[in-house]
Amino acid sequence: MFYEPLILTTFLPDSSLSHHMNDQSILLRQLPKMDLAVNDLDSEAISELPPAIVKSAVRETIESFRQRILSGTITSLPIDKDEWKAIFTAAIHKKNSPNLQRVLNGTGVVIHTNLGRSLLGAHTMHALHNAGAHYTNLEFDLDTGKRGSRYSLVEQIICDLTGAEAALVVNNNAAAVLLALNSLTCGSETIVSRGQLVEIGGSFRIPDIMTRSGAILVEVGATNRTHLFDYENAITEETALLLKVHTSNFRVIGFTSEVSAIDLVTLGKKHGLPVMEDLGSGSLVDLSPWGLPKEPTVQEIVKAGVDVVTFSGDKLLGGPQAGLIVGRKEIITRIKKNPMNRALRIDKFTLAALESVLRDYYDLEKAREKIPTLALLTLSPELIKKKGQNILRRLGGAQKVKDWIQLLPTISKVGGGAMPEHGLPSWSLVLQPGPDGASELERWFRTLPVPLIGRIEEEKMVLDLRTILDDDFSILVATLNNYLQREMAS
Ligand SMILES: *Cc1c(COP(=O)(O)O)cnc(C)c1O
Repeated sequence: MFYEPLILTTFLPDSSLSHHMNDQSILLRQLPKMDLAVNDLDSEAISELPPAIVKSAVRETIESFRQRILSGTITSLPIDKDEWKAIFTAAIHKKNSPNLQRVLNGTGVVIHTNLGRSLLGAHTMHALHNAGAHYTNLEFDLDTGKRGSRYSLVEQIICDLTGAEAALVVNNNAAAVLLALNSLTCGSETIVSRGQLVEIGGSFRIPDIMTRSGAILVEVGATNRTHLFDYENAITEETALLLKVHTSNFRVIGFTSEVSAIDLVTLGKKHGLPVMEDLGSGSLVDLSPWGLPKEPTVQEIVKAGVDVVTFSGDKLLGGPQAGLIVGRKEIITRIKKNPMNRALRIDKFTLAALESVLRDYYDLEKAREKIPTLALLTLSPELIKKKGQNILRRLGGAQKVKDWIQLLPTISKVGGGAMPEHGLPSWSLVLQPGPDGASELERWFRTLPVPLIGRIEEEKMVLDLRTILDDDFSILVATLNNYLQREMAS
């Protein structure tokens, strides 16, 4: 026996504090003992599992009960052995399952940083498999039989696509900014507009990165307006770089003014200073024909004469996590020689996926179909609505279903800090929660074997179908059937 029946004594001294403490010590004594608990588990349910997992899961479960007793968040324990067994078994299975799991994205946010940003197409996944399952020429020059450079696998492609003279790829765009600034301005001054000292999230702030890179930050202009003369007046003997940061995740509206890349380049040339632009999302295609805002493409910024441009691999580009640095050959060479480069180097999986996605861009029309991020961003509301009708049809479309699930027009987001105030017209399944409310429904969806993540609007659960993939359909249908049964029974 590893449990004792719970008896909360009622004849303790009359002070509520000591009453509480005594309840706690009784509960603590009633916690199962680890070894006994493990021995009592159904052996066939766990016999195939690593003993280390079984033991840790049981220990962690007991410990979590202990903490909850001590903090007063629980005042009773599971009543019998079967209840404990079920709790332990669930904990063991959870610990034995991968922590990184598939979820259904019903948020409508296409580049959702918390849900893994860009998805990769099947052909790109094939390239990843190839890089992982086989030896490759990662750093081996097949022409000469000598050591090669991993970067040469993608550099020419990036140059072809962006028009830049040279390119380098590092771990992510934050690393790209850090490395470029460190290489070009360490110990000397970088001039940047006050309106562009942005925080991207996840504690990435341009001023902090600049300080860590060794650059000395010289802020110019006002929050809403910066003029060319602000930069010019700040240039001294100590100036090493003019920096422009794309304010991707917010928009200053009203009485505003920013200096264009072209004007900054002209100023830089006059004073013999390089110009860098951190583009953030950095797209290679103009998505405005599909109703998205016109953002400068990487090619346009390079063409404007900006000496070094940095952008993300997994935002609008739709590839793996990476930071791309493109620009003038002489500058990229300086960055490549920085010893920090080695610490920020990308691995073979990033290279494999990046090469595959970049190759898609040689044919821009096909790129929009082959790169999931672009396909989802440019999906027409009509097609999204059709997805919804298909799902409803597969639910049986009974009158009862219509009381619980409605297909309604909604607005989805680009995400990834790109195009912040731009909404994409979409369609969502809007679910009526049961008596426990929308946040309980939202929580329940998160606990399913394939969790479903949506958003709550006006006390209803909204599942935006833009980000539900064809592959997700049967899981979504099963999940919705589950929900209907659960709510109809309540
Ligand atoms: C997103 C972003 C970054 C950081 O890029 P990661 O690839 O997430 O490291 C840097 N600068 C800007 C302007 C961004 O939008």
